[in-house]
Amino acid sequence: MALSEQKEDDWQQLISQTLRSALSPQEYETWFAPVKLCLEDSRAVVVVPNHFFSEWIQERYQGLLCHAISSATGRNLPVAFQLAGSDHSSRTRPSGPEQGQPAVPDTPPGHASPLNPRYTFDNFVVGPCNELAHAACRAVAEKPGRQYNPLVIFGAAGLGKTHLVVATGNHILERAPSRIVHYTSSEAFTNELIQAVRYDGITTFREKYRQVDVLLIDDIQFLADRERTQEEFFHTFNALYERGKQIILTSDKLPRDISGLEKRLQTRFEWGLITDLQPPDEETKVAILQRKAAEQGLELSRKVAFFLASQPESNVRILEGYLTRIIAVSRFQGVEVTLELVKRVVGPMVGDRKVSLEDVLKAVAEYYGVKVSDLKGSRKTREVTHPRQVAMYLARRLTRSSYPEIGRAFGNKDHSTVVKGVQKIVRLMGEDPSVAERVRAVERILQDPTRRQA
Ligand code: ADP
Ligand code: MG
Repeated sequence: MALSEQKEDDWQQLISQTLRSALSPQEYETWFAPVKLCLEDSRAVVVVPNHFFSEWIQERYQGLLCHAISSATGRNLPVAFQLAGSDHSSRTRPSGPEQGQPAVPDTPPGHASPLNPRYTFDNFVVGPCNELAHAACRAVAEKPGRQYNPLVIFGAAGLGKTHLVVATGNHILERAPSRIVHYTSSEAFTNELIQAVRYDGITTFREKYRQVDVLLIDDIQFLADRERTQEEFFHTFNALYERGKQIILTSDKLPRDISGLEKRLQTRFEWGLITDLQPPDEETKVAILQRKAAEQGLELSRKVAFFLASQPESNVRILEGYLTRIIAVSRFQGVEVTLELVKRVVGPMVGDRKVSLEDVLKAVAEYYGVKVSDLKGSRKTREVTHPRQVAMYLARRLTRSSYPEIGRAFGNKDHSTVVKGVQKIVRLMGEDPSVAERVRAVERILQDPTRRQA
């Protein structure tokens, strides 16, 4: 039974407010504006326009949706999905424009996302970690559709997959501007397909994808478990492949290791060439950093570049982030980029901050206004037992010490005393928000990267 309409309106508003505040406007419009939510006595029913919506919402937003529902209704209702037009939805009131004539999507299918001009072969630094992938892209860029079809580039995040495929597209377009080079991610492809299905534009969608000369699809690992998208992509792939059109894909896994990817797609992805990107060695990192700095108008000394490159980080996007921060601070303060500045700016981000038992004891003593010796002692008044237990809790949470180790640091206490103390704080934090707030405050102090280490 649906709830009274007045109440239902209130709840729906609360729920959509929560969703809106957690999602980007585009995500909300795409995924939640077209669905309708009905609250029943024992469950929440999400009425979706088609299977895609339920697949996607379940996969991506299930947790958020449950949270929104329970905070609006105060109940933990299980969520069920139902197709619009089936029995349930006919009982619900029409909601907004979706129900009238089919609307026109905001961004009609048919527009390629432009290639990012920043990604070229010229500014891609070649090293042992990426030379094969780079050579394969170069070869494809010279003669698209002739060798290596499809070309699959795989590697971990931030190693340059997108940079390389977009550079290939840019190169092809530069030499033959009339070619249709289409770049998209597998998520955008899925989205576009859903829109097409929703607005009766599947023919246009297919025509669009079948007329491209070069198709670049980024991050195909996200095709996993999307049956309908895989089906459509399978046909797109075949149509292009048969006509000798170039297909380039990237992935963070080998196609055969993407579980939830149909066998027939896995096989097709292996027809051409699969090439990988490895984490850059130190020399390559230095070269990349110097090049990126130069792009921002800074000549980075080798000393500084080496310091940054010696960090264990191999995700180039993160290394670039350090650089951007360093350049911003140096410009803002009007100082040179020296090793000292870099250590000051980057040090806390890079250094693995270890919290020691002594750190915890000191921070807790200071925050609660007791002495470290009180924490280690055995006095049983509440003024000291509470901070003592907080310190035990934080010691367990922030240091890698075992219960007996913590017991020893707290004046040779038995490990069961520590266990009890930790449990007590966990319970108190759940019951009393002010206790939780204070414990978290100390935790933040201990984790503050600018804190002086003991
Ligand atoms: P992925 O798609 O593999 O996650 P990206 O292609 O987005 O990685 O690369 C992340 C950032 O690192 C981009 O700004 C890119 O320009 C840069 N980058 C990665 N490898 C190189 C390289 N060899 N030379 C120059 N820049 C690189
Ligand atoms: Mg990428």
